[in-house]
Amino acid sequence: MSSFAENLAAIQAELKRVGKIATRDPQDVTLVAVTKTHGVDRVIEALQSGLRVFGENRVQEAAEKYPALQQQYPDLELHLIGPLQSNKVKTALTLFDVIETLDRESLALSLAKEIQKIGRAPTLWLQVNTGHEPQKAGLLPDKVDDFLLHCRKNWDLEISGLMCIPPAGQEPSPHFALLRTIAVRNGLNKLSMGMSQDYSIGFQLGATHIRLGTALFGNRD
Ligand SMILES: *Cc1c(COP(=O)(O)O)cnc(C)c1O
Repeated sequence: MSSFAENLAAIQAELKRVGKIATRDPQDVTLVAVTKTHGVDRVIEALQSGLRVFGENRVQEAAEKYPALQQQYPDLELHLIGPLQSNKVKTALTLFDVIETLDRESLALSLAKEIQKIGRAPTLWLQVNTGHEPQKAGLLPDKVDDFLLHCRKNWDLEISGLMCIPPAGQEPSPHFALLRTIAVRNGLNKLSMGMSQDYSIGFQLGATHIRLGTALFGNRD
């Protein structure tokens, strides 16, 4: 087996183990393979192992790597998991199926305008800064409810999920639990929480999507 296939098998085994305890079916969580910094050859390896959902954190890098693959694999689903600048909105809308990182009013407005113009709307999720970290993107937890209402009412934007990145070095579970509480309260059914270090905790606490880079592909350069 390739190391990729071994890594994937280990993740699936861990989800199965944890799923028994948490009474969750591993089928109910989607692996988002995070391919930032990795070449197209690694993406193809993942596609050949059956993965179809991918994440990139930079628009430019995704625009260089993915269009040809999207032609070849029509069921490929691409997620933006990094910050989106307003001047990249146009590119992002044609490239990504899911934008996980909507986090501010100016971006919502740019998205709404551009969606109107091109008539294509990707799935939109909000990034929440559960740790109140000043340097980190994301809406503060107590701003989310109003922001959602505002986006729906004024710009007709449909938002269906939340994502978070807990502060480094902290126990992730309170952050995941908070994210889930906010989602439930607002009727959002997608939860992107958990990375290589903490995906099994994310899964236990209700993640529908876990974002895995290192656990699948090994260390980035
Ligand atoms: C890079 C990245 C990941 C994947 O990180 P790993 O620790 O390598 O699994 C997940 N989410 C976001 C937002 C990232 O930028």
